[in-house]
Amino acid sequence: MKVVVLVGGVGGARFLLGVKAALKKAALPEGAEITALVNTGDDVWLHGLRICPDLDTCMYTLGGGIDTERGWGLSGETWRVKEELAAYGAEAPWFGLGDRDIATHLVRTRMLRAGYPLSAVTEALSARWEPGVRLLPMTDDQVETHVVVDVPGSEDERRAIHFQEWWIRYHAELPAHSIVPIGADEAKPAPGVLEAIAGADAVLFAPSNPVVSVGTVLSIPGVREAIRATSAGVVGVSPIIGNAPVRGMADACLTAIGVETSAEAVGRHYGSRKADGVLDGWLIAPEDKADVDGVSVRNVPLLMSDVDATADMVRAALDLAGVSLG
Ligand code: GDP
Ligand code: CA
Repeated sequence: MKVVVLVGGVGGARFLLGVKAALKKAALPEGAEITALVNTGDDVWLHGLRICPDLDTCMYTLGGGIDTERGWGLSGETWRVKEELAAYGAEAPWFGLGDRDIATHLVRTRMLRAGYPLSAVTEALSARWEPGVRLLPMTDDQVETHVVVDVPGSEDERRAIHFQEWWIRYHAELPAHSIVPIGADEAKPAPGVLEAIAGADAVLFAPSNPVVSVGTVLSIPGVREAIRATSAGVVGVSPIIGNAPVRGMADACLTAIGVETSAEAVGRHYGSRKADGVLDGWLIAPEDKADVDGVSVRNVPLLMSDVDATADMVRAALDLAGVSLG
């Protein structure tokens, strides 16, 4: 049984916990058979360090290191380096960098500088955290999502800012004219990405942000085509319940690309593999309705309130993809 999951950060990581639990309960071999294709469009250079928020959120969550209250970063974190940087006036105040977390970025940056590709670096970091899921960055090439906004206080001047700045510093409240994964056109899928999709029994889209998480993974040339071509069933899970994101500001991203914030509109945005889209099945919450041409839509509880609830959701997704866990 080989399951491939397209993911972002927090929503993706929680969903992966459910995939692990569902396969484990079915007494299938844990881990090696689950491959996560992780968004790296949020990655950013800060203080000379390469930060990969979605990869780290997945690695820490699956490896038991995540701060569960905050949802990101490591538990038992301290903030001495951040305080010292602030004392120099050299801090990016809107970006949380904990002392423990910085060690991850130091190791990653050292390896990247020595010439290792991000996929190899991720494998090396995972040797410590043992996430039980193969974490593959969508690409080893540098892709960074930027958001075109009006310069604050100006009527007619626009500029592109890094997604992280828009998301964290401005809480996605500056209206976005467009959202662009810079570098995606020239990027190649990381080694193993296309092979995993082609060899999968099921391909799932986590209820991650459809624009800046799943959408960015799909923007890497070859990924969409591989998903359209695979013999596996492809099923997505809606991050939108009752016309609102369950958490976060995905509505601002959807608005920027002209898609309504509803489970139906997101399902139509992904579209059917029978037409020019990427889905066979679409899971939506019990209270929602969605009519998506060529896609089997099913209503199931979609709140990832705990691992058991998430595993139930995963079983429904796998079932819709034509895979039964028995
Ligand atoms: P990020 O990279 O940390 O922003 O996380 P992702 O892109 O992986 O996931 C963010 C999305 O997860 C948001 O759009 C949320 O609506 C969605 N989400 C979070 N919790 C839940 C949940 O319990 N159920 C569902 N269906 N979606 C959720
Ligand atoms: Ca993210």
